[in-house]
Amino acid sequence: MSEEKRVIKLEPPLINEGTVLRRITGTRPVREGTFNISLDDSCTGKMIVNCYGHGGAGWTTLFGSVNRAIELFRTETDQSVPLRVIGAGCMGLTMAIELARQGFKVAGITTLALYDTASWRAGGYCALQSLKTAPEEQENVNQICAETFKVYQQIDLGDHPYITKEAVAFMPVYYSKSASSGIEDFEAKGLVPPPEDVILEFGRGVRHPNFVRGMTYYMNTTKLMQQLLREVERLSIPIEIGEIVAYEEVKEAVIFNCSGVGARKLNRDPFLTPVRGHLVLLNPAASASPIDYMILTKVPQDDTEEYVYIMPKDTVVFSEHPHEIDCRAVLGGTFIPIPENISAKELEELDRIEFKKLLDRNSLFFHGVPF
Ligand SMILES: Cc1cc2nc3c(=O)[nH]c(=O)nc-3n(C[C@H](O)[C@H](O)[C@H](O)COP(=O)(O)OP(=O)(O)OC[C@H]3O[C@@H](n4cnc5c(N)ncnc54)[C@H](O)[C@@H]3O)c2cc1C
Repeated sequence: MSEEKRVIKLEPPLINEGTVLRRITGTRPVREGTFNISLDDSCTGKMIVNCYGHGGAGWTTLFGSVNRAIELFRTETDQSVPLRVIGAGCMGLTMAIELARQGFKVAGITTLALYDTASWRAGGYCALQSLKTAPEEQENVNQICAETFKVYQQIDLGDHPYITKEAVAFMPVYYSKSASSGIEDFEAKGLVPPPEDVILEFGRGVRHPNFVRGMTYYMNTTKLMQQLLREVERLSIPIEIGEIVAYEEVKEAVIFNCSGVGARKLNRDPFLTPVRGHLVLLNPAASASPIDYMILTKVPQDDTEEYVYIMPKDTVVFSEHPHEIDCRAVLGGTFIPIPENISAKELEELDRIEFKKLLDRNSLFFHGVPF
């Protein structure tokens, strides 16, 4: 006799013009094959330590990647040499902090932008998503991911030296069988409970019978970025705003390149593709209580399959609002590779179409009617 599936009743977010806080985009640094974590001494007189190309999983692979890059460097170079970090996303900030904590001399961080980068915009789902990992690299990526997951566990226990437990939450994720959850390896390694087949109910007859309940971390990327910036300040690491066009212009002989999608130009890296993500931020009127679940699914739309996702973002920060705005959730998702020669007009039209489609399919999924 087959076992009855559990019915999970969830409060759907209200999705209408009154609850849309803002439509935003972000760019994932997706690198063909795998991330670039390597040493490069081809620029005369410089040692470049690359750490970029983490696609849609930079937060999920953060601490493992930073550790790898520092380990590579440690075996090669004198620790007393002053060094510079390029980039103030999650990679650059964490790199600078970890280097300083380990006794290296961090002269400063140079960054094109402090806010509005992929690291601030990320949904916060701890899972391997939007990567182009070659089969021979998969185990390595899985290990980096598991190492990072264990740091989030440490944060969750209130046991991390510079990130507080409010920055993460272990919570259910409901995913459809058609969408790869990205947490399969956590499940295989026993880091999270095994998946459970469930039925989702949103009320008013909206029911999704073939879902799976998994568990992983929600990484509150606003809180994480704020805490990383605070720690950089506490360690007196100066942040300079500016673009590095060529390594020769950097005074320091050791450079950690954490420029994310910027590495395409800086390193002339043909394997790096900017993958655009469209996100709709919902304001607190979208739900009386905080959203305490995540969803990732594929749904049919216009003769193809598109993604729907929700993450429980509670605050957001923009360059013009560095002192956070209240929010309730973020809806996604698109994964659109952007060619280098796209015009601003074409991009604007693409965004207009994608936001409309995204709101329609999310509204259909949660409420059974288009936006
Ligand atoms: C829409 C969206 C959703 C996402 N969702 C998730 C998720 O749920 N889970 C997850 O794990 N990951 C997610 N990601 C991916 C994650 O955000 C990225 O992998 C991660 O932020 C990459 O961090 P980074 O520090 O390498 O890059 P960034 O955050 O892009 O930072 C790069 C920094 O380098 C600077 N820079 C670039 N070029 C130069 C230059 N030439 N000179 C000086 N400075 C330069 C930039 O100004 C920036 O400060 C998402 C990304 C997007 C866009």
